[in-house]
Amino acid sequence: DNAQPKKPSWIRVRAPGGKGYAETHKIMRENKLSTVCEEAACPNAGECWSQGHATMMIMGEICTRGCTFCNVATGRPDDLDVFEPGRVADAVKKLGLNHVVITSVDRDDLEDGGAEHFAQTIRAIRHKSPDTTIEILTPDFLKCDTSVLETVVEAKPDVFNHNLETVPGLYPTVRPGARYFHSLRLLQRVKELDPSMFTKSGIMVGLGEDAQGVRQVMDDMRAANVDFITIGQYLQPTPKHHAVERFVHPDEFKDYEKAAYGKGFTMVSATPLTRSSYFAGNDFERLRAN
Ligand code: SF4
Ligand code: SF4
Repeated sequence: DNAQPKKPSWIRVRAPGGKGYAETHKIMRENKLSTVCEEAACPNAGECWSQGHATMMIMGEICTRGCTFCNVATGRPDDLDVFEPGRVADAVKKLGLNHVVITSVDRDDLEDGGAEHFAQTIRAIRHKSPDTTIEILTPDFLKCDTSVLETVVEAKPDVFNHNLETVPGLYPTVRPGARYFHSLRLLQRVKELDPSMFTKSGIMVGLGEDAQGVRQVMDDMRAANVDFITIGQYLQPTPKHHAVERFVHPDEFKDYEKAAYGKGFTMVSATPLTRSSYFAGNDFERLRAN
């Protein structure tokens, strides 16, 4: 049956609005950029945008994968836009961001999965805004030669994020086309290639996993030397998407947070509205200050 559990009181979503929101929106449109905030219908958009935080999505708005939790369209993507890295860098400069998150659709149609385009985007931002810290949230490069990862790592993002999204047992229904251990290995290789780079990963809860499974994912991440973890409640973008099996109580998130710090993550965000990029910059600033 399709009956969804009722949204609990702790899932409060602020409507987008305010001066900062309008300004961010304007700069994104002028630079013809897509944001994951809009594409993923993120519940934090009002809050983030009004404070100048945004996550840009590069390499188009059409993805070659069809994850069942994700609101991005699946299909045959457009050609890469060679001017996009420059426009992203312009937007970052105009927005005056301290920390920027760059993500993308999956590009299984490209031989390098878009690795070089990611690298160019990082270099372009670095050139125009040398003080901005750069976080990338990448696809899994599953169909590519393993050397493409070096291309991205050599561009030296400050944080390399790749989300495991859910427990391995739910991959066939949540993340078809992806492989849990491939994604885990990717995170481990980033750290091997550049031990000074922060690695980060995240999962959604409420998709049907159990607490034991979540703790196992934490252990797997730590075994791959992942530094930062995010855990947030899955919300169904449209009725066609994967059902919300359960709304996880804030106290359970607190337990996850405690467990994650206990396992050695240096930065943990585990709350119902945590998203991979939710105030990533604030946390990162705090960490650097310590
Ligand atoms: Fe955008 Fe991330 Fe904020 Fe959501 S949490 S609005 S995706 S920056
Ligand atoms: Fe969405 Fe990323 Fe899955 Fe593509 S690979 S469908 S953008 S979550």
